[in-house]
Amino acid sequence: MTVTAQPKASHFINGSYIEDKAGTPIPVIYPATGAQIATVHAATPAIIEQALQGARAAQAAWAKCSGTERGRVLRRAADIIRAHNRQMSELETLDTGKPLQETLVADASSAADALEYFGGLAGSLTGDHIPLGQDWAYTIREPLGVCVGIGAWNYPTQIACWKAAPALACGNSMVFKPSETTPLCALRVAEILIEAGAPAGLFNVVQGAGDVGAQLVTDPRVAKVSLTGSVPTGRKVYAAAAAEMKHVTMELGGKSPLIVFEDADLEDAIGGAILGNFYSSGQVCSNGTRVFVHKRLKEAFLGRLAERLKDVRIGDPLDETTNFGPMTSAAQLDIVKGYIATGQREGARLVAGGRYPEGPGFWIEPTVFADVTDDMTIAREEIFGAVMCVLDFEEEDDVIARANATQYGLSAGVFTRDLSRAHRVIARLEAGTCFINSYNDAPVEMPFGGVKMSGVGRENATAAIQHYSQLKSVYVRMGRVEAPF
Ligand code: NAD
Repeated sequence: MTVTAQPKASHFINGSYIEDKAGTPIPVIYPATGAQIATVHAATPAIIEQALQGARAAQAAWAKCSGTERGRVLRRAADIIRAHNRQMSELETLDTGKPLQETLVADASSAADALEYFGGLAGSLTGDHIPLGQDWAYTIREPLGVCVGIGAWNYPTQIACWKAAPALACGNSMVFKPSETTPLCALRVAEILIEAGAPAGLFNVVQGAGDVGAQLVTDPRVAKVSLTGSVPTGRKVYAAAAAEMKHVTMELGGKSPLIVFEDADLEDAIGGAILGNFYSSGQVCSNGTRVFVHKRLKEAFLGRLAERLKDVRIGDPLDETTNFGPMTSAAQLDIVKGYIATGQREGARLVAGGRYPEGPGFWIEPTVFADVTDDMTIAREEIFGAVMCVLDFEEEDDVIARANATQYGLSAGVFTRDLSRAHRVIARLEAGTCFINSYNDAPVEMPFGGVKMSGVGRENATAAIQHYSQLKSVYVRMGRVEAPF
């Protein structure tokens, strides 16, 4: 079967698809077969200019709409996405290789949740009234202006909407640059926003690699940059934005700890570890890739995990019974293979996976290393692939110190039946998004983001509003002005 997913054109600007074949061609590869399913072109300076001009013009008019009017457009877009969930999930699967079993419930639906949630909030975004005795002050919540969104390749539909929904709700416009690895899904989001009644130019999509992203970030018309990506890219983008004091949200990488105490429910803890390591073939920023298991539970944990891994179904991601897809790119597969080899060389015990199903496509088995120690490369560096590292521990204080001994701080999880221990330990873990007896839930109502090198700012929830708006303070004197002379 020949699969194609060629979009009408590479970019979506001012309400229409637009092409400029002078841009560098970017092949779109279906990760399950390695076949090219589309070609897009990187944005030329002319395309970037059109996108920024369009976004600027649209923003001024959009900011004048009432919040309720803005919210209505976003909520309509959420409904359209839900009505096309299957088609959008198939596109997500083609773009990323993630199994349809996942994309049908995790991607377009999460995007729709964000549009619905921020659409609902839009009418209530206000400043404050501040009584000051006889005088008073008030604040006006203002949009920032043109925002730039830059995406990673693991959740292309969700990332576009997690950024666009709060931005647009607050009265901003957006130019979004998807990852060059997964350029297709954001174009569909742009189409749907227009269908929902968004004005032309409000949400624009331009394609390209880091150089296009860098041109957007440094443009003086851009007020804010929200990046989802790796720490090295985050450093560059944050520094570039700082040069002009732009607002930023940085959703970056992680090496998050998942701590399984001796009193944990074994099945739930293993379920959490599976979700936190193998969902989306391990390509999730918040994954709990350092699984600290209490020594007394370790062998039972590993034995039962091996049994449950027998239910992994690797295969055609478009077959709904498949529950484990390929890596999203050949480059990422090579990175993961390198880490698996390093893990073996440094003396970790390979207890599951570690093999590569025959291509074509970028396949790997879910892989588990036991007896991993804190100094091993696989315990320190973000792998961003289906590799679980199991480490032993005995003492609570010790495991907390080891969990925190990393530059990252995106997520952390604890499995225990002792609730006071759960809260005590979570309070001491240096992470922005935490889980007790669960892992990797990301409801739009809960803020999401990291501390330390994992990021700045928060996505989702009312917290995101602060990152897409600013306050103007107004002091109002009711009496006479007393001046010294
Ligand atoms: P990446 O950093 O290579 O690229 C991210 C995006 O930044 C891409 O669109 C890329 O084109 C762009 N980019 C690269 N250089 C740039 C520059 N100088 N200026 C502007 N833009 C530039 O990341 P990736 O490989 O696409 O994604 C994987 C990484 O993303 C992992 O580290 C993962 O943990 C992280 N991630 C984080 C989250 C989160 O929410 N915290 C979510 C998903 C992925």
